[in-house]
Amino acid sequence: MADFIYPNSGLGQGRFNPDGSPRPGYLAKMYWAVIGAFLGTALLLRIFDFVLGVQRIRSLNARPKSVLARIYATFTSIGRVLTYPTPPYLQKYSGLVHFPSVGRMLLVIFYWCLLIGFFFYRNPIKTSSDWLNVGYRAAWLSIAQLPLIVLLSVKRLSIISFITGSPSSVTRNFFHRWIARALLLTTTLHMFYMMRYFASFNDLVMRLHIDIFMRRGIGTWCVLAWIVVTTISPIRHYAFELFFANHVLSIIVLFIALMKHTPPYAHVYIWIAIGIYIADVALRWSLILLNNVATSGLNYRASVSVVHDANTLKIEIPLTSLRFLKWKPGQFVRLSFPTVAPFMAHPFTIASLPEDSKMLFVIRAKAGFTRRILKKTLLIGRDIEKQSDHMVATATYPVVIDGPYGGPSRPWQQFDTVLIVVCGIGATYGFSVFRDVLRDNGAVQTLRLVWIVRHYNDIVTFREQLEQILKSCGTDASDFSILIQIFVSDRSTIPIPSHGQSDFDLFLEHLKDVVEVIPGKPVIRSIVRSVLERAGGETGIAACGSVKLTTEIKNDVVLLDAAANRPGSDTQKCWVHSEQFDA
Ligand SMILES: Cc1cc2nc3c(=O)[nH]c(=O)nc-3n(C[C@H](O)[C@H](O)[C@H](O)COP(=O)(O)OP(=O)(O)OC[C@H]3O[C@@H](n4cnc5c(N)ncnc54)[C@H](O)[C@@H]3O)c2cc1C
Repeated sequence: MADFIYPNSGLGQGRFNPDGSPRPGYLAKMYWAVIGAFLGTALLLRIFDFVLGVQRIRSLNARPKSVLARIYATFTSIGRVLTYPTPPYLQKYSGLVHFPSVGRMLLVIFYWCLLIGFFFYRNPIKTSSDWLNVGYRAAWLSIAQLPLIVLLSVKRLSIISFITGSPSSVTRNFFHRWIARALLLTTTLHMFYMMRYFASFNDLVMRLHIDIFMRRGIGTWCVLAWIVVTTISPIRHYAFELFFANHVLSIIVLFIALMKHTPPYAHVYIWIAIGIYIADVALRWSLILLNNVATSGLNYRASVSVVHDANTLKIEIPLTSLRFLKWKPGQFVRLSFPTVAPFMAHPFTIASLPEDSKMLFVIRAKAGFTRRILKKTLLIGRDIEKQSDHMVATATYPVVIDGPYGGPSRPWQQFDTVLIVVCGIGATYGFSVFRDVLRDNGAVQTLRLVWIVRHYNDIVTFREQLEQILKSCGTDASDFSILIQIFVSDRSTIPIPSHGQSDFDLFLEHLKDVVEVIPGKPVIRSIVRSVLERAGGETGIAACGSVKLTTEIKNDVVLLDAAANRPGSDTQKCWVHSEQFDA
């Protein structure tokens, strides 16, 4: 039937047409050759980074020594200067839309240009059969993108994160969405050119009546358009659970529709995409079961406490048997509480280190899942206000842990200086990285944490982390410089010593050589400048907070590098790893 309706349906097969132009199916292979070359280059750079990191940690020196390392340092530094910034005039609109960095924009533009290039390469579009040819090209280029889109969305089988060294789900999701938008563009072109071809014979209306493939194609396009529209930021953030359920269901419908619309010889790309997705789900669920299920039921119980501001939760999961639960500082897991909020799993950063033998989370309650846990704990929880100065209620629940995921691609121990800048609840990330470097500093000579909080009482929630830091300082951290600066933006919440000091104020007094509490907001640029000026080798900056904060840091790094007019010099080289808590 397909061959009768579409006499050129074999266009997908073979390499070149008699005029030397590539056949549509061959273009799909060329597309993967380019993607493969890109990923191969990224892998080579990653291997180079890895070797460099090992060398630095072994020699306890973060300064590039060999000629090759210096050349590499110069090129990576120039690359960062070109790709890190977000142009200031775009930041003006950042309240409405978050504009990506130049690097991300360039990658997206390159990708779209690649598709458009493939589209029109040796295809002058003069005769009506050229419309058909372009239509087929668009079809093959559309279907070829499916495995890449799925690869960017999977959680466990994240080959792309491994290759590119960018484990952040936020980064992967960004490219996942933009490539899906490119898919919508190519499928729209496919639909347009096919219709244009039939319209040139005044045949379109009749085709729509007799041709089920065409009707299925239009249906498939509508499902794809629905998926792309429902992933835009306001809809995604409005009701995440609803967005997620809709996304998964719509994708299943899309794949079924695609199978019905496309000829069998093009199904290979669909099967690869489905295969990757199923392998990821199978791997993820196997690990979840292995980790969480024991013969007696669920393996872990979480002790959930609501702290003083009645808006923050502290969750502790004692890990009696670690099984596969080994994590690196800065990683996160997805937690679900089957008895409180069934079928919901949300990501939270692990605020403890593996040697603490427990997983600790500090969570700011929002409107959905987190609010439900908070309310239930306040309702059924034991009132412990009298026993502790900052917990108001606590309860225990069975918990399912899925993870760990994420974390930086480069160990922090390979840098000369590590600067951690975090906002509010981002301290979960900041303190775990800080403690990790504190217990094993490798080549690090200077370690600095800048934490911006709104109220003085927000610091109390992280007392346990500060106590652990105090302990480490007393033992093994004397050979390098460490500093924690806590900026309290609401100055009026800082206690005045002459009005009497609480137990916590006295505790902070003990830490005064390491911890400074400063009223007001920090000037990020001057902090970054002072750190870069003193660095004796490459600096690593870990940033966790709003998009505004992480953008500001990257822009400042570039400005300072450019102002110093020596990108790539030994000391100015600076790598920024940013984490965001937005999906
Ligand atoms: C990698 C990562 C680490 C995080 N670590 C922490 C942490 O240590 N402490 C902390 O307080 N918060 C952390 N968050 C944020 C936390 O996951 C969300 O605040 C929480 O899921 C909101 O749940 P809710 O239903 O109560 O929120 P809602 O009020 O329904 O939504 C609030 C916001 O949270 C986002 N969100 C909702 N559900 C999810 C989900 N399943 N996955 C991702 N985002 C979602 C929504 O897009 C929305 O913008 C982290 C997020 C990520 C992505």
